[in-house]
Amino acid sequence: MTESAVRYEKADGIVNLVIDDPSQSANTMNQAYRDSMEKAVNQLVDEIASDGDSIKGVIVSSGKKMFFAGGDLKLMTQATPADADDIFENIESIKATLRKLETCGKPVVAAINGAALGGGLEIALSCHHRVAAEGGYEIGLPEATLGLLPGGGGVTRTVRMFGLQDALMGILLQGPRMKPAQALEKGLVDEVVAPDALLDAAKAWIESVQGDEEAATQPWDRKGYKIPGGAPSSPKLAQFLPAFPSNLRKQVKGADFRAPKNIMAAAVEGAQVDFDTASRIESRYLVELVVGQQFKNMTQAFFFDLGSINAGGSRPEGIEPRKFTKVAVLGAGMMGAGIAYVSAKAGMEVVLKDVSLEAAEKGKAYSEKLLAKQLEKGRTTQEKVDEFLGRIKPTDDYADLEGCDLVVEAVFESVELKHQVFGELEPIVNADALLGSNTSTLPITELAEGVKRPEDFIGIHFFSPVDKMPLVEIIAGEKTNDATIAGALDYVQAIKKTPIVVNDSRGFFTSRVIGQFVNEGLSMLTEGVAPTSIDRAATQAGFPTGVLQLSDELNLELMKKIRIASKTAVEAEGGTWVPVPAEDVIDAMIDEGRSGRLAGKGFFDYDENGKRAGLWEGLAEKFPVADEQPDFRDLKDRLIFSMSLDTVRCLEEGVLRTVPDANIGSIFGIGFPPMLGGAIQAINGWETPDGRIGVEAFTERAQELAQKYGERFEPPALLLEKAKNGEKFA
Ligand code: NAD
Repeated sequence: MTESAVRYEKADGIVNLVIDDPSQSANTMNQAYRDSMEKAVNQLVDEIASDGDSIKGVIVSSGKKMFFAGGDLKLMTQATPADADDIFENIESIKATLRKLETCGKPVVAAINGAALGGGLEIALSCHHRVAAEGGYEIGLPEATLGLLPGGGGVTRTVRMFGLQDALMGILLQGPRMKPAQALEKGLVDEVVAPDALLDAAKAWIESVQGDEEAATQPWDRKGYKIPGGAPSSPKLAQFLPAFPSNLRKQVKGADFRAPKNIMAAAVEGAQVDFDTASRIESRYLVELVVGQQFKNMTQAFFFDLGSINAGGSRPEGIEPRKFTKVAVLGAGMMGAGIAYVSAKAGMEVVLKDVSLEAAEKGKAYSEKLLAKQLEKGRTTQEKVDEFLGRIKPTDDYADLEGCDLVVEAVFESVELKHQVFGELEPIVNADALLGSNTSTLPITELAEGVKRPEDFIGIHFFSPVDKMPLVEIIAGEKTNDATIAGALDYVQAIKKTPIVVNDSRGFFTSRVIGQFVNEGLSMLTEGVAPTSIDRAATQAGFPTGVLQLSDELNLELMKKIRIASKTAVEAEGGTWVPVPAEDVIDAMIDEGRSGRLAGKGFFDYDENGKRAGLWEGLAEKFPVADEQPDFRDLKDRLIFSMSLDTVRCLEEGVLRTVPDANIGSIFGIGFPPMLGGAIQAINGWETPDGRIGVEAFTERAQELAQKYGERFEPPALLLEKAKNGEKFA
């Protein structure tokens, strides 16, 4: 017999249900939990029935470091539509036990000692009171971020605790993860105490409510209970509710994000019926998500792939972790200023060097501005601001770079200038300093020719704005050694960003693949596709920004410059540059003086504050809209396939090293639709309108697009091989 995952302990009239699965390092909602919890609660209820006076109350606690890790995602991602009934029964059985606990007639308190996310918090929500230990761990219902909904009672109970609007907006739809103090502020927990006082606080609460029958019930089980803020039929809510779905649609720009839709439906429908019916409705909506593909895509990316990257999956083995204490940032422009900020934020000393002290100080002023805002909002103190700014030293003097153990160069994009700067700084910084460049287009191997230690040279490619964008692309040149790759990864993790590692190649991974997307979208203009359809196809496919809008942001002049440099390089290597129709579009727009937002005009007009006004009226004349418009699904798929196919080529050519890097890099760096789980997961999990799923279905669709739109959609050999062998990319 397997050991129980829940221990039933009783002392001094208090029953402690200790969740402690002996077969795992963390508690999850697996079968052992389900059976053990059911048995323990049945024992409790029996004991209350036979000898109720001997029990003052119940504590639910954990024997692990975490309180409870939630559902077993690995198992759940294997679910198919055929499993729907079984999953529904399983969820209902887990929930029936919690409902039994909640209505056992004795006061029940959750003692939360560590992370309680998803299912963990749902267990706690079925208790009448929640005490949490102080700590840096997280509490919340982040299901939406994995394409799920809190179907263990999370929707039903939070709606009844906080009302529809606050539950949806504050907890369910965005799925924020909160520290205990924030959870207390939100009302998700009732008390936060020192970790070693946790069980005593739980017991004290039980003692304090002896004789208070109400304390042993949930508000929604009391007579006369009404949902806070009103039921959907109340006049106040009835005005708002019809706008909810359209607001949601607007927020996700028409993309078919299923989790928020189901969460909203479960919340609103559930608010109109009794608790048990609401709970069943919630289970149905959860099952629909679990057996669907979107949850699998999102969980692959945001749980498994991100987890693997955060655990150092791409870090070369056997190399000691490296800690950087003094960073030289060269160039205090837009990128340098941001890099200085994020490095100082992580506690590193920063020497910010530019050609003049004035320019360097301007770069530091960027940090001052960001910190002033945080101070204004009460998120930091003057003392912390002073300390933070004290770590950034602006300078125009190379001598100040003495003692630096890391260099991040962000001067203008020029090989000669970068060579010169590295030549000047190399003798001054530490003899083993890691040498990084933030170049977005120049080959790392070529830049490394300008230093004496090319093995210590590496690309550390940030995205703009640096303080907000989570991704950093680390680029290994031909001579970069493993210790340098590991060191760069350590730096990126220290500044709390997500690193991917790629090998040197034109455009690296991110710039190269986003170029395909832009080319595909802009070429549609030359085919007579209506401009609004192009941008709508992108956002409805799940990209955060339309192609024309993105091109305006990226700047057409810059795109042209990069193209000319690439063409020159290709021709210098004896190759032939193959032009694409997008080039004519870019050139025509530049001729019109419309190079993008920076110029105040591009595909769109902008007002004096840089705010988008409307589509340029002259566009219809330049690129007349054809009488016959292509299938809208083709437009969406062309944009997705342009990125995914080129990502396969990156794997094939060894530019990319791992599938997690491909998925996370594409979502965090270049806006690949999160609901598809990243550029490679989109292939593994490709879903046709008639419900076929997988690599083969994707490959056939690529061949279809190739026939209709050109050979750029022909599946690369690696894809054909996977399809033939019935394999996924892993
Ligand atoms: P920028 O023009 O805003 O800043 C460049 C700074 O470098 C200027 O302040 C300039 O005075 C300074 N500089 C020039 N010569 C110098 C020298 N000899 N010593 C010290 N400082 C010098 O440019 P940026 O947008 O910050 O880009 C910087 C680098 O980052 C480029 O290589 C660019 O390709 C790369 N990059 C830019 C972006 C982006 O979105 N802008 C994104 C990723 C990478």
